[in-house]
Amino acid sequence: MRAVVTGGSGFLGSHLCRRLLAEGLEVACLDSMLTGVPANVAELEKEPGFSLQRVDVTDELQVDGSMDWIFHFASPASPPDYLEYPIETLKVGAIGTWRALGLARAKGAGLLLASTSEVYGDPEIHPQPESYWGNVNPIGPRGVYDEAKRYAEAMTTAYHHKHGVPIRIVRIFNTYGPRMRRRDGRAVPNFISQAMDGDPLTVHGDGSQTRSLCYVDDLMEGIWRLLNSDIATPVNIGNPEEVTVLALAESIRDLTGSASEIVFQPRPQDDPEVRCPDITLARTRLGWEPRVPLSEGLDRTIDWARTGW
Ligand code: UDP
Repeated sequence: MRAVVTGGSGFLGSHLCRRLLAEGLEVACLDSMLTGVPANVAELEKEPGFSLQRVDVTDELQVDGSMDWIFHFASPASPPDYLEYPIETLKVGAIGTWRALGLARAKGAGLLLASTSEVYGDPEIHPQPESYWGNVNPIGPRGVYDEAKRYAEAMTTAYHHKHGVPIRIVRIFNTYGPRMRRRDGRAVPNFISQAMDGDPLTVHGDGSQTRSLCYVDDLMEGIWRLLNSDIATPVNIGNPEEVTVLALAESIRDLTGSASEIVFQPRPQDDPEVRCPDITLARTRLGWEPRVPLSEGLDRTIDWARTGW
C-alpha cells in the first residue's frame, strides 16, 4: 500500500506519516512548508518507505507511481495562520482539494479529507452531530478556513458520486500534542509557551467559551479506523471532554508549575462560543473513542515542549 499525504510536514500530517509508516504503508509526503516544518519529518527521511516533495499542491500535484490513498491534510489550520494567509487557505481547500481528487481519480486511489469542526461555525446546536449544517459567516475572518473546508467536503463528495472515487471525510475537533508549533497561535501552544517562559497567559474574553481537546494519538487511531471503514460521509473525531478556555489556561499553568498570571484580552471576531463533538457515529460504527484524558495529554505535550521547542 502506498499513501500520499499532503501537508505531511505539518503538526497532524507528521503524526499521520508516522502512523501510516508504522502500519506498513509507503508514504509520499508533500508540503509547501508555508506552515509545515521540515524538522517534523526530518527523521523519517532515513526510512526507505518515506519520501518528501516540497511542493505547493495548489500549483501542481504530480506524484509518480501507484498509490492507494491520498490524505489531503494541507492547509493553514491555526486562526492566526489563516488570517495571515487567507487566499492560500481558500486555494488549498478549493484548488488543492480538486487537484488531490483529480490525482486520486487518475490513479484509482481513494481520498481521505481532513475536514474540521469549523464547518459548524459558531454552533447553535450543542454538542455537534455530523447532521448539523453549521452557522458560518462566509465573509468573517474565519470564513476563509471554514468555507474552504465546506467546499472541500462538497467537492470530495461530488467526486465520489460522479466518478466513484472512494472517500473518507474526518471532521477534526481541536487536537493537540507534540510538534505543534510554539508560535502557531492556538490556545494550547500559546498557554504552554507563556507558562514555561513565565509570561502572562493571554485568555481571550472572559475565558468562558469552551473547546473540547483531543490528544493527537487518539485522533490518529480514529483516522486509521475511519480509513478502514466504508463510511463515505463525514465523521466527527474529537474528545467530548469540554473545558472553558479559562480552565484550560489554569490547568496548563498548574501542570507546568508556573507562577504566570492570567490576563484577559479581546475576543477575536466570530470566535465560536462553544464546541463539543457528538461522537455517537464514531463510537457505534468505528468502535472508537478517545483514551487519553486532557490532563495526561497536556502532561505529555508539556514534557515534549520542554525539550522539543
Ligand atoms: N485563545 C485564548 N488565548 C490564546 C489563544 C486562543 O484565549 O492565546 C482562545 C481562542 O479565542 C478560542 C480558544 O482559545 O476561544 C481556542 O482557540 P484556538 O486558536 O486554539 O482554536 P480554535 O478552536 O479557535 O480554532
